[in-house]
Amino acid sequence: MADPADPRLVLATRNEHKVAELSRILAAAGFADRLTGLDAFPGAPDVPETGLTFADNALLKAHAIAAYTGLPAVADDSGLCVDALHGMPGVFSARWAGKHGDDRANLDLVLGQLSDVAARGAQFVCVAALVLPPVPEIPDGIRREWTTTGVLAGELTRAPRGSNGFGYDPIFVPVGMSVTTAQLAPEEKDAISHRGRAFRALAELIPAHVH
Ligand code: IMP
Repeated sequence: MADPADPRLVLATRNEHKVAELSRILAAAGFADRLTGLDAFPGAPDVPETGLTFADNALLKAHAIAAYTGLPAVADDSGLCVDALHGMPGVFSARWAGKHGDDRANLDLVLGQLSDVAARGAQFVCVAALVLPPVPEIPDGIRREWTTTGVLAGELTRAPRGSNGFGYDPIFVPVGMSVTTAQLAPEEKDAISHRGRAFRALAELIPAHVH
C-alpha cells in the first residue's frame, strides 16, 4: 500500500493521548517529519489485545499494522502494575473495571481494592515495538522486530489529584516526587515516563533499520 521509497513510520494506535505523547517523544528524537498516524489509514484493522504480556500485545499491533500499511510500524502496550495486586491490572489496565477505556471506573476500582492496604508500590510499564513490513522472502536470521521496555516506579495515592494525562495518572506519584503524573506538564511526564523511556530507546534503533 505505501510507497516503499517513502521513509515514513506509522504509529499503530488510535488512542489520541498516545499519538500526542509518542509524536512528542519521537519528534524530540528527530523523527518529526517521518511519522504518520493511523488516521491516514482509515481501513486499518483494530487489533484485539489478546496477549498476556505487554510485549505480546505491542508486537501483535505492530505486525498487523506493518502488514496492512506496508510501512515500518511502531506500537506499544502499557499499563499499571500494582505490587499488592501481584502486578495487576497489567495488560488489563485499560479494561480493569470491565469497560475498555473507562479511566475513572478503572482508577476507582484500584483505589477500592487498596483501600485497607498500606503497601502502595506500583510501576507504570511500557513495551514499545518496531516491526518492519513483511517481505515475500525473509532470509533466515534476519530480524524484522525489536522491543524496548520502560518502567516508571512510584506509589499510589488514596485519592485522585491533577487533571493532566490520562488513565491512572491522577493516583500515581513517581518515586522521588510529591505530585502525581496528572499534575506534571506533558514534557515533564515524557522526561521520566515509562513510555518516554521505552520510545527513546526504540528511537535509537530506528535509524539502523528504517531507511
Ligand atoms: P493500552 O492502550 O493497551 O496500552 O492500555 C494502557 C492502559 O494502561 C491505559 O488505558 C491506562 O489505563 C494505563 N496506562 C498506561 N500508561 C499510562 C500512563 O502514562 N498514565 C496513566 N495510565 C496509563
